[in-house]
Amino acid sequence: MDLRFYGGVNQIGGNKILVTDRKADARIFLDFGMNFAVHAQYFEEFIQPRTANGITDFIEIGLLPKIKGIYRRDLLEFAGLEKHEDVEVDAVILSHAHLDHAAHVSFLDERIPVYCNAITHSILQAIHETAPRRLEYEIINYKRRPLLNYKDKPIPREFRIVEGRFKIGGLEIEMIPVDHSVPGASALLIHGSDQTIAYSGDLRMHGTEGYLTEQFLERLKQAKPDIFLCEGTRIDETDRNNEQYVRDGSGQEITKARGLVMADFAFKDTTRFMTFLELAKNSGRRLLIAFKDAYYIRKLKTLIPSLPSLDDESMILYEEKRGSGTFSDRDYYWWEREFLNRQNTVRPDYVSAHQNEIIAAMGYYDVTELIDLKPTEGSIYIKSASEVINEEQEFDMKRLKAWLDHFRMGYHHFHASGHAPQADLARIMGESNSGKIIPIHTQHADMFSSLVDKPIEMPQLSME
Ligand SMILES: [Zn+2]
Ligand SMILES: [Zn+2]
Repeated sequence: MDLRFYGGVNQIGGNKILVTDRKADARIFLDFGMNFAVHAQYFEEFIQPRTANGITDFIEIGLLPKIKGIYRRDLLEFAGLEKHEDVEVDAVILSHAHLDHAAHVSFLDERIPVYCNAITHSILQAIHETAPRRLEYEIINYKRRPLLNYKDKPIPREFRIVEGRFKIGGLEIEMIPVDHSVPGASALLIHGSDQTIAYSGDLRMHGTEGYLTEQFLERLKQAKPDIFLCEGTRIDETDRNNEQYVRDGSGQEITKARGLVMADFAFKDTTRFMTFLELAKNSGRRLLIAFKDAYYIRKLKTLIPSLPSLDDESMILYEEKRGSGTFSDRDYYWWEREFLNRQNTVRPDYVSAHQNEIIAAMGYYDVTELIDLKPTEGSIYIKSASEVINEEQEFDMKRLKAWLDHFRMGYHHFHASGHAPQADLARIMGESNSGKIIPIHTQHADMFSSLVDKPIEMPQLSME
């Protein structure tokens, strides 16, 4: 068996790992994500890959590797690159729905089937249905380029919804649920002709699903994989904050707050969403959510029954002022309009008048709403996401603080990461019964050898 790394090497995210097993007659990609670090190195808000240039800009900058037989034929033709007849890869398996693992499926030949579980598929669909079409996020389907007519029918990609054990060619694969900051996250075991490979995806030890990662670890102990591709996002970090920490810390501040509570968290993380919904219930407040988030929760509820219905008495939907500023139906996307006239949909003036009864699930990009919400004395902003990690975020934080100062709002930070810290990673690897370990999804691959008593092999980045 042969492993090639086209992303996720010395970088957090952008995983694209090609597994070739000639005897089993199979070539599969483990994830095909977008590399946010490389993207941020070359691009910013006003310098973006030119959609009009198709795939060319992405290949030039090294966001996509030069590999034959995998990309969309329309994009290859548009870029003047050599086209293939048959695809040269049998499948992509997605570990979870985060874009650093899934976004660049957008560029793949639609004849390469995408394997994932039902929750991951549903999340990708929700993103697709609620965001404007963009070349970089055409995961579910795509429109042929050059796009001369917007009415052209999209070309669907083939998704194969899997769970547990399944086969691709002669490979037997196990998809094993793990805890992470998005539901549906999974690790993989690939039983090849001469080796077994374990792939962690992204994981942490705690969650609401009853310690899924612990069960994955039990499976690793039995399976004794020859190679363990293990993520190390937080291998250099020691804080072990969990959901309880977020609940307790935020709960205390919410009890003391008098005006509006604004809670900034990643909505895809349904664990965090449930934490804030519970905090709202416990404090006699209601959780105010955006239409996009209402759409997401309702869609996922069919697969995750523990999620609330949109009629839950502790939830209200936010009709933000858009376009004409008159709350006209036409100011909203087609998929939002059904939310406009619900009995629990409210406008900014209502939120302002009832602010001490509300936790608004809003973040940095919503700060201008504060002008209409008019937070009163004693209002607070709780950031429940990772704090500043790069220069751009430092500027964002300064700007956020300026807004909060302007409205005299208090700032608090309570977060539990989706990634396991050092001690947990050392335990997972140490107890895994695996042969050699290959660090992925980390900027500190050099730290692995001091934490585990197993052979560590450094992955090499391939670009072609
Ligand atoms: Zn990731
Ligand atoms: Zn992730």
